Amino acid sequence: MHWADVIAKDIASKCDKPLIATGISPSGEIHVGSLREAITGESVRSALEALGKDVKLIYLVDDFDPLRKRYEFLPEEYEKYVNMPLSDIPCPCGKHKSYAHHYVEPFINAMKACDVRCEVIFVNEMYRKGMFAESIDKAFKRREKAMEILNKVTGREMKPDWAPFNPLCEKCGRFTDPILDSYEYPYVEYQCKCGHHGKADITKGEGKLPWRLEWPAKWKIFNTSVEPFGKDHAAAGGSYDSGEVIVREIFDGEPVYPIPYEFVQFKSKGQVMQMHKSKGSVVSGLDAIQMNPPEVLKYMFLRVNPYKSIDYDFKDGMPIIADEFDRIERLYFSDEQTEEDENLMSAYRISRNNVIPEKLPVQVPYGHLVNLVQMADDFEGVLKILERTGYLEGATEADIAAIKRRVDSAKYWLDGGYADEKYRFSVAKEMPAVELSADEKAFLADLAAKLDVAEWGSDAISTAISEAGSASPIGNKNAFKVMYRILIQKERGPRLANFLASMDKDFVVGRVKEASC
Ligand SMILES: [Zn+2]
Ligand SMILES: [Zn+2]
Repeated sequence: MHWADVIAKDIASKCDKPLIATGISPSGEIHVGSLREAITGESVRSALEALGKDVKLIYLVDDFDPLRKRYEFLPEEYEKYVNMPLSDIPCPCGKHKSYAHHYVEPFINAMKACDVRCEVIFVNEMYRKGMFAESIDKAFKRREKAMEILNKVTGREMKPDWAPFNPLCEKCGRFTDPILDSYEYPYVEYQCKCGHHGKADITKGEGKLPWRLEWPAKWKIFNTSVEPFGKDHAAAGGSYDSGEVIVREIFDGEPVYPIPYEFVQFKSKGQVMQMHKSKGSVVSGLDAIQMNPPEVLKYMFLRVNPYKSIDYDFKDGMPIIADEFDRIERLYFSDEQTEEDENLMSAYRISRNNVIPEKLPVQVPYGHLVNLVQMADDFEGVLKILERTGYLEGATEADIAAIKRRVDSAKYWLDGGYADEKYRFSVAKEMPAVELSADEKAFLADLAAKLDVAEWGSDAISTAISEAGSASPIGNKNAFKVMYRILIQKERGPRLANFLASMDKDFVVGRVKEASC
């Protein structure tokens, strides 16, 4: 059984109207790993729905969190916004409602593209509507008990003046500490660092709970049944451990069924990859969804259980994961599945949102499209090559649309500067200036003659190259190099026979002849 079904079954046996929560603190560009969280939540949601449960998925945007520091990617003027709620800070580009919206909106779009069916809730609005008032009141009244719990769970001595609530200064807009013994529902007084002495109303969002209390307070408010979260929160003494006790003893609620998930790491061949983008940032959820179509990206998350880390190799991995998806898709439509394949078949089904095409879709390998987008002027040009090379036999409109999505993904991967340099090339329109030896020229002359009479397809081309290569003193390996040099001015390139077959025969034969003279 797929892990999402296992979890769903367990939850279904415990509650009738399950609610799944996930969320993010939108302090910067949202990492592709957060998509894993959203897709994990969505897969459990759809599994519960399939079991006939009235289930809901909510996505909590923690936009009432303070800006912790001026991050490197922010302009200097943002120094003045440190410790203000993200919802109250202006957006860096000027086009969004707030700082939080600036970062979360593209991510919400990425979730939509992955068909994550959730209700998005902004936490600052919850505070401002008074939804946390009851929890805040309890936190003040049971402050000592909360400190005892936190002492015990974290093993750290709490400061005697530990605040269960941080008022928002009405003068400077920053979070500050309360005067503890001034609390009388719904007000607490504070003396802010800016000099202002004021009174905060806990029913009006004039302050917030610290994270260790806020998280379990949300479980109580929504009566949350399940929540996927990063494994850092699940560490011993971490916020799940304290939340589990606090929700019962401070807020009179019940803890969630935890789905701690492992991180998505940027790794290639076992090596951690350096981030290289000019914005000094990560591969965001939105980037990820543009480098592979949603079903492929979802499959990448769904094929392993949440407790396994995922290496996201943006330099080399995009064609690999797409090929794996294609392989599983072919297996799904074949009669050759074994019991061992059951999990992957489920992962495939969920990655397609349980809407499976009637027959095996026409598949064009991602890596091939990476080559074609660099050879053709536009999508029409790509289609023409595919048509000529026999890829489009029996293609439906849906197939063409899927190929278009893949073409766009391949382009994003190349143009966004993610793909390794070795995937990039451009076919020289005129014969480039390359120095060739007499042996190399003789090889080219022989090859030109062979290609001239070959039926234009990758098999015949492959035979012609290996025959001409082995007959020549330059050998097969150099034969390939010479071909790349005269076509793309590099020593390596796309798989040669396929590459040549994708081009016009007259052009290729003409180039080889010209180079042989
Ligand atoms: Zn913006
Ligand atoms: Zn102030």
